[in-house]
Amino acid sequence: MVSTGPGQGQGTPISVSRRLLARIRDVMAGADTAAERLDQVVRIIAADMVAEVCSIYVRRGADVLELFATQGLKPSAVHQTKLKFGEGIVGDVAQKARAFALADAQEHPNFAYRPETGEEIYHSMMGVPVLRGGRVAGVIAVQNRTRRHYTEEEIETMQTVAMVMAELIASGELFDAAADAAEAAAAALPLRLEGLMMNEGLGVGEAVLHVPDFHIEQLVADDPESERRRLHAAFADMHGSLDELLADDALAESGEHRDVLETYRLIAEDAGWLARIEDAIRTGLTAEAAVQRVRNDIRARMANATDPYLRERVHDLDDLAHRLLIHLVGGQTVTAVKEIPDRAIVVARNMGPAQFLDYDHEKLAGLVLEEGSPTSHVAIIARALDVPVVGHVRDVLTQLADGDTVVVDADNAQIFARPGADVLTTFEEGVRKLAEQKTRFASLIDEPAVTADGAAVSLNINAGLMIDLKSLADWNADGVGLFRTEVPFMARSKLLGVDEQTRFYAQVLDQAGGKPVIFRTLDIGGDKVLPHWGGADGENPAMGWRAIRVSLDRPALLRQQLRALIRAAAGRRLHVMFPMIAEVSEFVAARDLVEMELAREKAKGRGVPDVLKLGVMLEVPSLAFQLPALLGEIDFLSVGSNDLGQFLFAQDRGDPRLAGRYDMLSPAVLKFLSGIVEACDARRVPVGLCGEMAGRPLEAMALLGVGFRRLSMAPASLGPVKAMVRSLHVRALEAEIEGLFDRPDHAVRDQLRGFAADHGVEI
Ligand code: PEP
Ligand code: MG
Repeated sequence: MVSTGPGQGQGTPISVSRRLLARIRDVMAGADTAAERLDQVVRIIAADMVAEVCSIYVRRGADVLELFATQGLKPSAVHQTKLKFGEGIVGDVAQKARAFALADAQEHPNFAYRPETGEEIYHSMMGVPVLRGGRVAGVIAVQNRTRRHYTEEEIETMQTVAMVMAELIASGELFDAAADAAEAAAAALPLRLEGLMMNEGLGVGEAVLHVPDFHIEQLVADDPESERRRLHAAFADMHGSLDELLADDALAESGEHRDVLETYRLIAEDAGWLARIEDAIRTGLTAEAAVQRVRNDIRARMANATDPYLRERVHDLDDLAHRLLIHLVGGQTVTAVKEIPDRAIVVARNMGPAQFLDYDHEKLAGLVLEEGSPTSHVAIIARALDVPVVGHVRDVLTQLADGDTVVVDADNAQIFARPGADVLTTFEEGVRKLAEQKTRFASLIDEPAVTADGAAVSLNINAGLMIDLKSLADWNADGVGLFRTEVPFMARSKLLGVDEQTRFYAQVLDQAGGKPVIFRTLDIGGDKVLPHWGGADGENPAMGWRAIRVSLDRPALLRQQLRALIRAAAGRRLHVMFPMIAEVSEFVAARDLVEMELAREKAKGRGVPDVLKLGVMLEVPSLAFQLPALLGEIDFLSVGSNDLGQFLFAQDRGDPRLAGRYDMLSPAVLKFLSGIVEACDARRVPVGLCGEMAGRPLEAMALLGVGFRRLSMAPASLGPVKAMVRSLHVRALEAEIEGLFDRPDHAVRDQLRGFAADHGVEI
């Protein structure tokens, strides 16, 4: 038997799939036990697909697949054959949540021989995952003796059948769930899980599992046309409700919320998506089953996408599919807009911005995601709402239950579930202290940032989104010391044109209300991936083709940005700085582009900025050795200690294995920084520091000790740093710190802490 297409002499693949579905539907509607129904289903599939074998594996426990029914393999293997996720081809299907079709399965490196099944005589194999609520609930496998090439249509048909099986498995009739429940109970011990900090903060609350799940009653429909009409009606409804979300007053003022949701609506309008759903309807599915079917596909794709940006966009589609289902099944939804406890920790695989906003944010104490990235839409929204987020927490959904007490310790990228009383008390105390501190810092807002011995310190914020600018006024900061212009690019699905950028930068300047904003030109590459730009490449992206290197090699993007900045700041002050400058000539080349753009604007008779200041970031150590040549050229300098640290120590800043290995409070770093400040002061070039260390009170104290008087930090750090500044006698520290420069220590953290303790510095 050679490759047997489902359509052979029996009509189109669509009608075949409809016929198979109809038969399975009849079985499902019958009065037999679940196990008997499963047996009938494998027989029907095997016959319909002209396959010798059809088997259904069901997930048991965390990651085991158990053979539940088979046509063709030895019946005695049922409930005996068990495969781990990743084991064998079936295990691979489960692990990757992806369908496989192999003409010669035994040649496949993952082929796992199981003597009890007698399967050595089968050559070809197709396996599809049974997906439910985004998780793999089982696998359906079809095998043939010959080297058969399964067609796309056959695979699609099996995926549709898998949806029906998902409902049967979820019904709980197949196995006594007691054993699995016992396993879950055994796991209900206190748990600490690590992840990735996506928004800082600390929160304690009750777990609310966000498992958007639907029980789709009707999978198969007889009248595709009426299903198509239902789909379109639901689509229109969904648009209406997204419009309402966009019109929400709470969102009206903040640009990014709106941008994110606008983007989202554009994705919703993507005709390709709708067309795929309509195709699925034509194969005989109801509208909701078709949406679910396409959604399963999307999820499988998402699992395989490596580009984080792409994964996020695909995830938006998943979120939209969920919305569409809500509109289709109307009212049957399980989790959307549900009542949540007063202090809720939402736990999800991943979620879109709109789903997140469905929860009452007054009650949100934290968010935990299995996936996500700091640049994902949901992270951006969470940051704006000040909700701590830990992402990349593996399998968290399977390890938590609704109502579990959870601590989200985002600052340390960890969560605690069902913590013991002592751990809980410690964190509750932490939350209380944070609230107290917030009140205390709020009382300093109108106090000047002047040291106890009279040195004025300029405290600025690092920003990247419009919403960050609110903090400028809220905390009475002096300005924006670093505006990371790549962030708005990352938050959107496309590159921004000159007009869009101009509007955006003008809005930033308006919001800043006359306070200076230092715009850093695009720092892309490294860990900052833009849409349509491709992922980070090269062996060592942080030291690779990024930031000013990209800008000078592909000047069009930088020139557009400069044009937009110049236009946005016409008649006002404009500060621009360039990232990752490694030698003076790079600054000179960048400045030439600025001048070219200025001349262009003037030639067109357009207004230009009243004052234009150009600066560089000192992030690459080589630049520190060119200060005599550099300082005559620039208007200001800002030390980017995040990158500088990684280059000084040859320590990848993104590698968790190196986190904490070297210390920015080492004699080497302090001496290095002191030399930079000294050189800048001598030439009267304003110098500041805008890396993360500026926002940590002890580190910020050390920076004042080596001479910095201008710091830029995340808005949340302004309060603690100002409290430190106001309690510090900086002259005494300066006298002491010099004595630490040539010490052999790994760090002088302890000595600095000792100084703070002895001199009553609030750190
Ligand atoms: C830095 O490197 O210190 C810096 C402020 O820039 P970024 O963190 O955006 O690389
Ligand atoms: Mg940097």
